[in-house]
Amino acid sequence: MILEADLKAQLNQYLQLMEGDVLLKVSVGSDDVSRDMLALVEELASMSPRIKVEKVELERTPSFSVNRPSEDTGITFAGIPLGHEFTSLVLALLQVSGRAPKVDQSVIDQIKSIKGEYHFETYVSLSCHNCPDVVQALNVMSVLNPSITHTMIDGAAFKAEVENKDIMAVPTVFLNGETFGSGRMSLEEILAKLGSGPDASELSDKEPFDVLVVGGGPAGASSAIYAARKGIRTGIVAERFGGQVMDTLGIENFISVKYTEGPKLAASLEEHCKEYGIDIMNLQRAKRLEKTDDLIVVELENGAILRSKTAIISTGARWRNVGVPGEQEFKNKGVAYCPHCDGPLFEGKSVAVIGGGNSGVEAAIDLAGIVKHVTVIEFAPELKADQVLQERLHSLPNVTVIKNAQTKEITGTDKVNGITYIERDTGAEQHIALEGVFVQIGLVPNTDWLEGTLDRNRFGEIVVDNHGATSLPGVFAAGDCTNTPYKQIIISMGSGATASLGAFDYLIRN
Ligand code: FAD
Repeated sequence: MILEADLKAQLNQYLQLMEGDVLLKVSVGSDDVSRDMLALVEELASMSPRIKVEKVELERTPSFSVNRPSEDTGITFAGIPLGHEFTSLVLALLQVSGRAPKVDQSVIDQIKSIKGEYHFETYVSLSCHNCPDVVQALNVMSVLNPSITHTMIDGAAFKAEVENKDIMAVPTVFLNGETFGSGRMSLEEILAKLGSGPDASELSDKEPFDVLVVGGGPAGASSAIYAARKGIRTGIVAERFGGQVMDTLGIENFISVKYTEGPKLAASLEEHCKEYGIDIMNLQRAKRLEKTDDLIVVELENGAILRSKTAIISTGARWRNVGVPGEQEFKNKGVAYCPHCDGPLFEGKSVAVIGGGNSGVEAAIDLAGIVKHVTVIEFAPELKADQVLQERLHSLPNVTVIKNAQTKEITGTDKVNGITYIERDTGAEQHIALEGVFVQIGLVPNTDWLEGTLDRNRFGEIVVDNHGATSLPGVFAAGDCTNTPYKQIIISMGSGATASLGAFDYLIRN
């Protein structure tokens, strides 16, 4: 039996929801993974009379495809979709059986209208929490459009392929054999990347807003909900709705909710915004803000112009780059920022973590359980992480901590092969051979696009007063992009509410 009892019980309930028959075509050999895969598909077939199994030869062995009896859908799992991919398997079974995917009708229409052949392949690890979103989005596209296919490939089961393609971050998506993208991508993001989204003139034609929120993280969502609840015309323009929360696994300090996960919180934020009819313009990046006599004008990267009586900037923050030679060249080729996502790809290898604060030390502890060896490189003479984390770190046998060291270069040819640092007390240069570098040196505010527009402090954070007002009348700001001392979800949401009430106050006085 490949499925554990609790998983089987869950699956049993879902399989009751199947609406039509599904044919699993399985390609197996004599290896262990093939044996487990065959056991899995046979177990599925034994659980529902709607599921049939047929042995065939597919492009990869072991793999299986999920089809309608009369038509191949193009959904294939190469490797066993358990771990975080279990949900992807369940959804594929339900959707192929005829249950409608939970996406807006406009998105369904968009997918159905895509012309041309699109063959996607996604390399995943079963412990990657960013991968299922991508796998499930591409599977939905395959279910809805016969000229789109998608194969999920478990890197652990196809190690040679991963090595040959130099894949060092998951998920990594290929389209028709060429790299398409890596990291978490929503269905909307994939569609936008394929050039299927609203065009600039459609956005520019919109009537002016009362409140236009730039940024769709916790601060932006909170600002928009507070504004919309006043009955005023509210829009959100966001490069990626959800913000940093989309990269967060467990959240245990969102008061009144004991535990949640980032993508779940982001989905709730979106649902709450939609409840008030807020105009969400996702996957759109603002590049310029200007104040004319009576309106705030925001220009987007695609050339669209949005107008509003007030604006709330909540563009948050992004990972800080270490800024040494090799970092950009080897991004996703050994240089990584998300230990939860990419750690498993470095199994049995040696890696460095740059940064000895809480996030760096947490990353090192996490990685030490997977990789052969972790070297923590800290610029300051002492680690800055909490004492309890430092004690845990020092108890691990495969971790070395190097303090007072300045990273000089991440070295490599086609991928990372080492790191060079300078001992700050002696000036001596040292080189360590390793295969991966995780950069964990904090965040930088997304405010470069506002250069010269409003006051920012020396860290680039927008300076706000206690009503959330910036130095530019009618423009407010909230969350991690501002000079608030602590950067947390609940704090961003609170400051979003403040900025929104500040903007409303401004509207009624001007
Ligand atoms: P963000 O979440 O950064 O959102 C910014 C938004 O602006 C995004 O939608 C982005 O796409 C958009 N944007 C950026 N530039 C532009 C532009 N030019 N045009 C249009 N849109 C733009 N906090 C906790 O309280 N608890 C935790 O457990 C926790 N864990 C974390 C784990 C990780 C790995 C990280 C990275 C952060 C964590 N945080 C946690 C911090 C928390 O996520 C942030 O404080 C919070 O998300 C900040 O919200 P925000 O809305 O200000 O900004």
